[in-house]
Amino acid sequence: MKACIPTYIRDTIKTKKGENMTKRIYWENPYQTTFLAKIEKIEGKNVWLDQTCFYPESGGQAGDTGTINEQKVIDTKFDQDKNIFHIMENETTLKTGDSIEGSIDWERRYKIMKIHSASHIMEHFLFKIFGQLKLTGSHLNEKHDSSTYESADRLDQEKLSMVEKEVSNFISQNLPIETYPDEEKPNYRWWKCGDILMPCGGTHPRNTSEIGLIKLKRDNGGQGKEKVVTSLRSI
Ligand SMILES: [Zn+2]
Repeated sequence: MKACIPTYIRDTIKTKKGENMTKRIYWENPYQTTFLAKIEKIEGKNVWLDQTCFYPESGGQAGDTGTINEQKVIDTKFDQDKNIFHIMENETTLKTGDSIEGSIDWERRYKIMKIHSASHIMEHFLFKIFGQLKLTGSHLNEKHDSSTYESADRLDQEKLSMVEKEVSNFISQNLPIETYPDEEKPNYRWWKCGDILMPCGGTHPRNTSEIGLIKLKRDNGGQGKEKVVTSLRSI
């Protein structure tokens, strides 16, 4: 087990081309909700900063919303160089070079963090009970995680209830959750909880005790596909 403090994040992350990438505060501290930054570029309603707490849509996890100098940010995404841009609700009066204060919608993001970790635990026990299934897509927002798997058969409801029980039992053990960069590829990250290890660059709570009770629901994923929807009972 490696140390999970990503010290390299304090330095500017470089891409293969040697370009500067947006510093990702959400990896350093996923609980940080406000930050100071400088505007690097503005194109229409899209704003690039030198650093950000806003998580960009990736790995199935929805992009963050919030404000930049009290102007509304409605989504966050990666551009083709893996720099992060913030999509404003309206064209902004801000200018390149301006110092700003950013703030994420924490209530929404915290729900997403909890559901994200719950979905990893769900997948671990889903495979344990149903066998390995091929994941063909996943979408995660503040309401639920919806993961689609290749499966010729409809997922058995009794077995799915067993998965839900196992997941709930695991969560109730108040286990620490660690996220850390890969030793060789620092932009590739790992998620570890108990004996479960998965690759993931998303944002997560620090302990399963924060997740609370969850529920699982089966849905039709289309031809030869089954969907598992994970949500928090507290929502
Ligand atoms: Zn993940």
